Amino acid sequence: MPPPLSKFAQSAGGSVVVGMRLLADAVEARGVSVIDFGIGEPDFDAPEPVKEAAIRAIKDGHGTYVDPRGLRELREEIAAFEGTRHGLEVDPDQIVVTPGSYGALSAVTRALLDPDADAVIVEPGWGPYKALTSLTGATPIGAPMPVVDGRFTLDAASLEAAVTPRTRAIMINTPWNPTGRVLTRAELEDVAMVAERHDLWIIADEVYSELVYGEARHLSVAALGPEIAARTVIVTSLSKSFAMTGWRLGYCIAPLDLAPLLARVNQYTSRCATSFVQHAAVAALRDSMSFVDDMRAQYAARRDAVARGLNAIDGVNCPSPEGTFYAFASFDEAWGDSRDLASYLLEHAGVLLTPGSAYGPASRHHIRLSFAADLATIEEGIARMKDALPPPAQLTSND
Ligand code: PMP
Repeated sequence: MPPPLSKFAQSAGGSVVVGMRLLADAVEARGVSVIDFGIGEPDFDAPEPVKEAAIRAIKDGHGTYVDPRGLRELREEIAAFEGTRHGLEVDPDQIVVTPGSYGALSAVTRALLDPDADAVIVEPGWGPYKALTSLTGATPIGAPMPVVDGRFTLDAASLEAAVTPRTRAIMINTPWNPTGRVLTRAELEDVAMVAERHDLWIIADEVYSELVYGEARHLSVAALGPEIAARTVIVTSLSKSFAMTGWRLGYCIAPLDLAPLLARVNQYTSRCATSFVQHAAVAALRDSMSFVDDMRAQYAARRDAVARGLNAIDGVNCPSPEGTFYAFASFDEAWGDSRDLASYLLEHAGVLLTPGSAYGPASRHHIRLSFAADLATIEEGIARMKDALPPPAQLTSND
């Protein structure tokens, strides 16, 4: 018998998105074409100024270790970006640059949680929040949110129901994966109220902040006021906003006196985010906003096509996504649990989706569709789903 393994590491669950992709590989191996609406990754390539800056930085010899907090020049650029785009007043010393927002979340959870602590995770919620909490030894507690007028909606009572005497942090995400919601000021005020009442940290994942559509506006909980900012750590990255997933560049924005601890955890995890990518990130924030605007316009056209197409299927209700690149639609219960439904649609329609149950029990009859795919693919995929789904009324009448 080999020696035992870490209990904490083993308690972190695997990824449903990866599991579904493996099932899709098996279907494809049988010669069936599969349309991939599962992956949460932009189908765009990084902006040209970013690529050029990275190549220049490599040629200029910027391949050494840098400050574990991140290059000063980049932190200044991030502070300016957060000020202009999100109205946040940020000192560069509040910022710690990390390998993606995974790196940021990893540093934050390790800096704030202990094995005797709980963390509240809003549900439906992105799966890794639970896993990252478990890795610290703390216990993730799901807080299922209600559906109001067809949309998942965050409220104080639902959050508070998950708070225990051990709770130390609440994790929120806006724009919200998987629901496609953008949290309103009133919802964020509810989060702030619960955090203040129970003296909790707020971990605010804003990785989709640039991907909002129509009337929706991204608002950071930290923008509600200095008392809230003093208990908030924002985690975000360039992955979605600038189509730079594989570049691994993210950051935390923390209260000034917490940032050094985050920098220390980051140092012992990765030493620093990749140095020449930090130079490229400066070019992203400084010279690539027109790229972001263009990408956002294309996502907006796709989200309209997705909502229109899904709502035309009898038994499916898809509220128009306000942000992210995910549609989160409810499917008639007659089709069964979302895991079975997603497997059925993979087998019978050749469409890869993510079951809502991956995000918590509140969304057992929802399916997440990533519209990071071109319009023709979206239309073909939804047509395949429509053809493969038996009308729900037929199923119920046979019960
Ligand atoms: N947060 C959310 C809500 C996400 O959807 C993702 C990626 N799917 C991440 C964080 C992590 O992204 P990255 O590490 O590339 O910034």
